[in-house]
Amino acid sequence: MCGIVGYIGKDNVVPVLIEGLKKLEYRGYDSAGIAFIQDGDLMLRRSVGKLRELESQIAGQALHGNIGIGHTRWATHGRPSEDNAHPHRAGDIVVVHNGIIENYLHLKRELVDEGCVFASETDTEVICHLINRYVKKGQDLEMAVRSAIGELKGAYAIGVINKAEPDKVIGARDGSPLIVGLGAGEFFIASDVPA
Ligand code: GLU
Repeated sequence: MCGIVGYIGKDNVVPVLIEGLKKLEYRGYDSAGIAFIQDGDLMLRRSVGKLRELESQIAGQALHGNIGIGHTRWATHGRPSEDNAHPHRAGDIVVVHNGIIENYLHLKRELVDEGCVFASETDTEVICHLINRYVKKGQDLEMAVRSAIGELKGAYAIGVINKAEPDKVIGARDGSPLIVGLGAGEFFIASDVPA
């Protein structure tokens, strides 16, 4: 099932993502992870097991940012492991995903032939490489996500950020839930209302 959450706004994104994931943990507890932009750098923290494993991993680290995405996983493709934990990354692109990409093997073969190197066994990772492919062709993040989802068959809700566009979180869905929350100068995406 999986839970995804995303935030852009004035508050520190790290506790916002962790709080959001706590409300979504019923959706999956094989692994948890967050990605955010801290002082221009893309930061990823992922951990196998329940969210508290991720919380202990980041405890005491000075992490901050104003944009990020998070995920709690219920594995469908690839065993529960740190390499298979979301967020997944290709270049400057980071993705969290809820759902199943039915044509991922076909897409993976195509991307490997183009020279992409895969770091996980998930279906999700094809989404990052596809988006990265279109960003490298000159499309902005929104356009690249539109191009990539045009090639997907299956069900998805995704949250995407790009290190090179630190003022945007893109969400897209087809067949999996994703809601948008509007605050005062802040925006949220999440798989479910409590988050
Ligand atoms: N198919 C993705 C994975 O296995 C997402 C899983 C899900 O939404 O349950 O990592």
